[in-house]
Amino acid sequence: MTLAIRQAIVASPYARFASSVTDPNKIRADLLDERHIDTNLIALLKEIILDNQIPFEFTVVRFGHHDDGPHGHAGGKAADGWPLQSTREGDWAPAEGVVMDKYLKVAGASQYIRQLGLGGTMFTPHNVQQATQRMGVYVFHDGVPGADFDHGHLGAIFD
Ligand SMILES: [Zn+2]
Repeated sequence: MTLAIRQAIVASPYARFASSVTDPNKIRADLLDERHIDTNLIALLKEIILDNQIPFEFTVVRFGHHDDGPHGHAGGKAADGWPLQSTREGDWAPAEGVVMDKYLKVAGASQYIRQLGLGGTMFTPHNVQQATQRMGVYVFHDGVPGADFDHGHLGAIFD
């Protein structure tokens, strides 16, 4: 994936960065660095943010995430966030609705998705149905009792 695509994602009005949660500049720096963020994750984010123009606010990508191993955030193969109603930071889309449906369908249909996690209020039977687009994609509840936070997890394929 060329640097130009990484730069286009970071500069896109459809990509927002949650300044309340983390340091947006550190997320941007990670996304621009092929040593930090895997090309497959960039390809997945390109489909969501650039090709389909779904506003998406990143909460955590690599920087600031605990070490979840080489195939997760720590390995630059996963991103967390939530789709937005508009391109305004914090204008979260409802947990169910047209924006969420589009986000889940696009992410779930991507050839670059491996794990599609639904955390907190995103995890509903309707949303699981929307997200289940392709064989081999693991659609799961990304939360446990006591730690079930509102977020979507995008896990990219390995190779
Ligand atoms: Zn995650």
